[in-house]
Amino acid sequence: MSLRPPCEVPEHPAACAGEMTMEQAQAEAQRCLSSHACDGCEICMLLCPDLAITKDPDTGRAVIDLKFCKGCGLCAHLCPKGAISMEMDRG
Ligand code: SF4
Ligand code: SF4
Repeated sequence: MSLRPPCEVPEHPAACAGEMTMEQAQAEAQRCLSSHACDGCEICMLLCPDLAITKDPDTGRAVIDLKFCKGCGLCAHLCPKGAISMEMDRG
């Protein structure tokens, strides 16, 4: 058993639309700040030692190929958005 990131990095929540109250705006800002959203910056793709991360051409988000991932945790450590977390690999 080892630690691996999930194969797909969580999607960014849908953008807000329309007017909102100050309370709603504050709640939305908090939700976005803690959403652990991938913005496709490619840092993890450049630094993964096993070249296990690519960008999904449709979503622009990182996708991890667990066939190549060795579970080093570098991507989760370096992602500026906190979009990657490690979980137990039970396979
Ligand atoms: S480093 Fe984080 S935000 Fe950047 S592409 Fe990778 S998962 Fe997405
Ligand atoms: S950086 Fe390490 S944990 Fe992240 S995908 Fe690459 S090999 Fe796996």
